[in-house]
Amino acid sequence: MTQTRTYPIACPTCEASFDAELYESVNVQTDPDLREALLKNQLNQSVCPDCGFTFRVDKPLLYSDPANRLLVYWIPVPPDRLAEGEDLCNELIRELLAMLPEDLDSPEIQMVINRVELIERIFSAEAGLNPRIIEYIKYQIYTRNSDKVNLETHGLLLNTHDSTDKNLCFVLQNMETMKFEAMLHYPRETYEVFREMFADEEKSVDLLELFPGPYISARASLRE
Ligand SMILES: [Zn+2]
Repeated sequence: MTQTRTYPIACPTCEASFDAELYESVNVQTDPDLREALLKNQLNQSVCPDCGFTFRVDKPLLYSDPANRLLVYWIPVPPDRLAEGEDLCNELIRELLAMLPEDLDSPEIQMVINRVELIERIFSAEAGLNPRIIEYIKYQIYTRNSDKVNLETHGLLLNTHDSTDKNLCFVLQNMETMKFEAMLHYPRETYEVFREMFADEEKSVDLLELFPGPYISARASLRE
């Protein structure tokens, strides 16, 4: 269900107004090129017909990858307006579910607030990793290594590309400059221990309570 819509937009450089066709939702199973476009930061890019300035228009986007059971709403809000973003996301989820047949076994709809978070979720799903367990690991890192990882100033992102059979690799991101500053390695064995632990029904409730969604984030949960 790849969908586009035409929006009136204004060029941020010369202020010329024009109509742009932007993606509302992308299904990367039917349109794999759109996954590549997103990774290259070319999705929802517009070129001003007057001055030629190229820029990305940030708007809510639904990313769907049925093969990997992934449905993510990218709601571009700043971290200090997270509650607002979650309200909007819940509204969009209600609208979406109302359109789907009731017996359809659709995956949980997650929310992210920026492209980097969306890419993290895409690679995690493609690697078969559970986002709540990944956030649980981040939760452990934040609480046990608070001397090295400052929750207020830094975020953690899973880096699947540099992860190995032995270790999961996380990058430390400075939330002010958005630059990646360091890498942390976490034993994959421990991921498996958590996965088995949370397969238990009672335990899985604890994990859901910690990260109720739609925005599943250790940092957001700890900063509440
Ligand atoms: Zn322009």
